[in-house]
Amino acid sequence: MPPEYSLYKRRYSVGVKVGSITIGAVSPIVVQSMTNTDTADAEATAKQVQQLAAAGSELVRITVNTEEAAKQVSTIRAKLDAIGCSVPIIGDFHYNGHTLLTKYPDCAEALAKYRINPGNVGFGRKKDSQFAIMIEKAIEYKKPVRIGVNWGSLDQELLTHMMDDNAKRKDPLDADDVMREALIVSAISNAERAEEIGLPRDHIVLSCKVSGVQKLIAVYRDLAARCDYALHLGLTEAGMGSKGIVASTAAMGVLLHEGIGDTIRVSLTPEPGGDRAREVLVAQEILQTMGLRSFTPLVTACPGCGRTTSTFFQELADSIQAYVRSQMPLWREKYIGVEEMTLAVMGCVVNGPGESKHADIGISLPGTGEAPSAPVFIDGKKVTTLRGDNIAEDFRKIVDKYIEQRYTRRVS
Ligand code: SF4
Repeated sequence: MPPEYSLYKRRYSVGVKVGSITIGAVSPIVVQSMTNTDTADAEATAKQVQQLAAAGSELVRITVNTEEAAKQVSTIRAKLDAIGCSVPIIGDFHYNGHTLLTKYPDCAEALAKYRINPGNVGFGRKKDSQFAIMIEKAIEYKKPVRIGVNWGSLDQELLTHMMDDNAKRKDPLDADDVMREALIVSAISNAERAEEIGLPRDHIVLSCKVSGVQKLIAVYRDLAARCDYALHLGLTEAGMGSKGIVASTAAMGVLLHEGIGDTIRVSLTPEPGGDRAREVLVAQEILQTMGLRSFTPLVTACPGCGRTTSTFFQELADSIQAYVRSQMPLWREKYIGVEEMTLAVMGCVVNGPGESKHADIGISLPGTGEAPSAPVFIDGKKVTTLRGDNIAEDFRKIVDKYIEQRYTRRVS
């Protein structure tokens, strides 16, 4: 049973190196994402991988579904290297992975990790041999593997077998419990088989993705208790917009709080024309708001209410958050620890000064009927009061000056 309330304590897992990144052991929880371009289009895929990496994705998965896609993988890697983007790329294989990895050694070499879905490796007698070929390729090229089980593509032979066994029990489990057990058995038994073939334990990551919040929590609690493989966490087909974000956060928040999960992906469906990198920001925000990692200074803003009838403070909070995000790549290169800075933009005198004092830098804007002045607090002390038409600009300058003075410059 999970603790009722605990300080965060990470479950032990065997660390897995993926290029320069380590998943599991004592390493920070890794953020990953996946492209939605056609991998056969090397230009578009390299561009999106770079965008995801620039947003903060530490690993990026690409689908390798056809010969055309496999042929382009080394070109994508070369294009990324040419622009100084070293993010490891992971190949997602289904059904024909054994053929593609055999026929295209450049692809096998250029990828930093292979994702194998044991439910989509092949059918009948071929399943075992095709799985073995992929594992042998991982061993040959010294690549780690994620054995990624998904309830939408669960090994049907295994499930049927387990359902039949369950039906013979005196006290049969309900179908959901059998399905959960089948997911876990599929992941662990395939990992053990990979080890028997010769893939080291520290080259194996597991995942068991489902699309329901409660189901995901139940599956991962069980999985985490039954093995010490590093775990990739994610709600599959989380959905669009706020639904996808809320569902992913609800499921992963519970598990992460219990110390379960070594790498996460938020599987958001982008809105038409939407930014694929949003899934990276959401993953970062889950980890940062839980206090597990710091990526970028967070801006605390009050929701506004009847005490503030203007939209000025919303606009200021938005512009400060956008400013922080746009400057962060530069700040991160120049200053140590700047990602831990906290900012507060508050709408009126009720909670404004108090909340502002708790942030590294806070501003309390005037509510309706209050004097048109905005006190600014730094490290809990009021340092100045801003007035006039340039409050946003003046506040940004204060932020810049604070960073310059507070954070140590990196030695280049
Ligand atoms: S700080 Fe003021 S404006 Fe903001 S929610 Fe609280 S009372 Fe309303």
